[in-house]
Amino acid sequence: MKKVSLENEDNKFTPPRFVTGLQCFICGSKYDYDNVQTCPKCGIEGILDVLYDYDEIRPNLKSQISNRSFDHWRYKELLPISDDIQLPHLHIGWSPVYDVPRFASHFGIKKVFIKDDGRNPTSSFKDRASSVGVLKAIEFGFDTIACASTGNAASSLAGLSAAVGLKSYIFVPQRAPEPKVTQLLVFGATVLKVQGTYENAFDLCREACVKFGWYNRNSGTNPFLVEGKKTAGLEIAEQCAHDLPDWVVVSVGDGCTIGGIGKGLQEMKRLGFIDRVPRLLGVQAEGARAMVNAFISGKDLVPTDTNTIADSIAVGTPRNWRRAIQQIKQSHGEMITVSDEEILEAMKTTARLSGVFGEPAGVTASAGLKSALEKQIIKPNESALVIVTGNGLKDIQSAKQAVGDPISLPPTLEALTAALSFQNIK
Ligand SMILES: *Cc1c(COP(=O)(O)O)cnc(C)c1O
Ligand SMILES: [Zn+2]
Repeated sequence: MKKVSLENEDNKFTPPRFVTGLQCFICGSKYDYDNVQTCPKCGIEGILDVLYDYDEIRPNLKSQISNRSFDHWRYKELLPISDDIQLPHLHIGWSPVYDVPRFASHFGIKKVFIKDDGRNPTSSFKDRASSVGVLKAIEFGFDTIACASTGNAASSLAGLSAAVGLKSYIFVPQRAPEPKVTQLLVFGATVLKVQGTYENAFDLCREACVKFGWYNRNSGTNPFLVEGKKTAGLEIAEQCAHDLPDWVVVSVGDGCTIGGIGKGLQEMKRLGFIDRVPRLLGVQAEGARAMVNAFISGKDLVPTDTNTIADSIAVGTPRNWRRAIQQIKQSHGEMITVSDEEILEAMKTTARLSGVFGEPAGVTASAGLKSALEKQIIKPNESALVIVTGNGLKDIQSAKQAVGDPISLPPTLEALTAALSFQNIK
């Protein structure tokens, strides 16, 4: 396994221009920019935040951005990537924001926007993080990258690795769903089915990265990946600058997505693109509510068991809860849970009232908006942007639960007429 030192002249990339260092969320210690994962003093819980020199960035950003391509690299000053590195050719980010009045009036709210992140190359929000992850691996001199996941992080890493020419090793638990494992194999990842749970796969992956010298695209703890997720917040500020929503609604697993979006919005306020930050509503499944519990109690997070159809947010031990809760509180936001029934219902209503088909975790924010209106957390005269984080074709099994079967009939007009009149009577 080739591991090229950063000191090697031939392989040296300039460090990201505006990154000033990294800071621990727990103890506040600051570190120089380097190939690190978590705070050495605080261990695995010591998530690091990437710091930037905003005073240097601010004067030129607005004018320079206006000439750039519409993908998430347009914010390169606000990303921890080297200027000399070749960007992946896949189109990442700048997902569309739709104004969906029929959806809004159905739920009794003034205005709703849907930002469809299922439109990324491997069909989920995770491509924002993986695209930064593969660049960090290349910059730090690795030719192999690994992660443990059954879901979107895995398929995203496999796809992005294929795009840039890295080898990828993906650790999945025994019960990983067949379609997702197949997607990994198609992209050429080496898929290791671990005889055990997700936690077993996670631990084995971490040990393997140390032993074999692979870069760890660890979903919850790698400080650079969340910077990729941040770009959705940067985009919302630009795309909605003239009609900024009162609320941004996001489904929550590890908490990197909502924490990143919050950071992105805060940065855009600081840099003069927007004059306020929308309130964040974080939505978890009832069967995976560890973060909501911590948000309500104000105490440290206590891991829970998980039981929900929204597999992408079925996280019992959310890794980035401090960042997520800090961002939600800073925005004067809220957190709520929704049931699996509400999620299945939201899959139908979102698709039928907007034309956007999301997987269960992808429409959890939609379900959360409905519930927050009922609980009067969000008011009818406010506006909300809902992020659909993953495409519905990722999980056909759940979708079938929501919608049932098609009408089966012989190929005659009589049969069709009979079937249609039966439909009308129903
Ligand atoms: C990963 C994921 C989320 C949640 O992101 P976290 O960073 O784990 O909170 C939400 N929706 C989908 C579709 C995902 O894949
Ligand atoms: Zn620390």
